Amino acid sequence: MKLVIVSFLLLLPLWGFEYNLKPQKVTEGVYCFFGKLEPIEKQNAGNVVNSCFVQTKEGFVVIDSGPTYSYAAQAYEQMQKIATLPVKYVINTHIHDDHWLGNSFYKSKGALLIGPRTYEENIVVGMETRIQRILGKELFGKTKIVNLDTIVDNNLTLSLGKEKFEMKQIEDVAHTKGDLVVYVPGKQSVFVGDLVFSGRLTSLRDGSILGSLSALDKIDAYHAKHIIGGHGYVTDANATKEFRAYLFEIKNEVLKAIDEDVGMEEIVKKVSMPAYKKMKLYDVLHARTVVDAYRELEMMDDEE
Ligand SMILES: [Zn+2]
Repeated sequence: MKLVIVSFLLLLPLWGFEYNLKPQKVTEGVYCFFGKLEPIEKQNAGNVVNSCFVQTKEGFVVIDSGPTYSYAAQAYEQMQKIATLPVKYVINTHIHDDHWLGNSFYKSKGALLIGPRTYEENIVVGMETRIQRILGKELFGKTKIVNLDTIVDNNLTLSLGKEKFEMKQIEDVAHTKGDLVVYVPGKQSVFVGDLVFSGRLTSLRDGSILGSLSALDKIDAYHAKHIIGGHGYVTDANATKEFRAYLFEIKNEVLKAIDEDVGMEEIVKKVSMPAYKKMKLYDVLHARTVVDAYRELEMMDDEE
C-alpha cells in the first residue's frame, strides 16, 4: 500500500491533473477542446477555455494552447489519435493566461509560437501568472512562460498544407489590447478568442465595451459558417448574437443611467439585468463589467 501511495505521489508531477480532454469536431479538419463554463479553480486546473486545432496535410495549427503544460501535453496526445502529424504553429489570440500557458509544451515539440505584440509587452519569462497563483505549484507543474517566435502587429497570413490562416487585429482594444482573430477561409471558420463568449459572462477588465461591440460586427462581416469563441459551446454563424445582446443592453442601460446622473455607487444595482442571472459567472463578473462599462462610457460622455 505504502508503495502505491509513494508511486502515485511521484507520478503526479510528471503527468499532473487528469484533464480528460476529448476533441469535438466543429467541421471537417477543425476540432476544439471545449472548456467548462466555470471560473479558474484547482478542481478544474484551468480547463475553462477553448483550445482548437486545424488539421492540414503538413501538420496541425493550434489556436490557443490552454492553461498548463500538462493540458497541452494531453491535448497533443488526443490530436495524435486523429492523425500522426506535427504541430507546426500555435497562434495565441490574446494575453490572458488561460489561453497560452500551454505554449511551452508545443515549443518543446518544435512548434512556432505566434501572437499579438501585447504578448511581448505584457508577458515576461519568470513572472507569476494568475493561473499559477490559483493552481499552486503541484498543478502548475512543468508550465513555463516562453517568448513568441513571431509577432503580429496588424495582420499576417500563413499557409500550411494548402490551408491559409489569416490573422488580423480587428480592433485596437476590444476584449484586450491587440486581440487577434484567425480566419481559415478553406474551413469557413473564424477563431475569435475572447471576442465571443457563449453560455457564460465575461470581464471587460482589460478591454472596452465599445471596442467589443465593434469587433462583433467585424467578425460577422467574415460571413463564416463557424465562429469559434474562447469560452462557450456555440460555434455556428450566429455565435455573436447572445454576447452582442448582453453588451448592447449594458451599454444602453449604463448610458441611460449616466443621463439620469446615477452615480458609480448606484450603477450596479441599477443595471443588474436579472434576465442574465441564469448565465454562468453572473455572480462573479456582471457587477464588475457594469462598473467597467460605466467608467468607459462616462469618460466618453465627459469628452462630449
Ligand atoms: Zn480572455
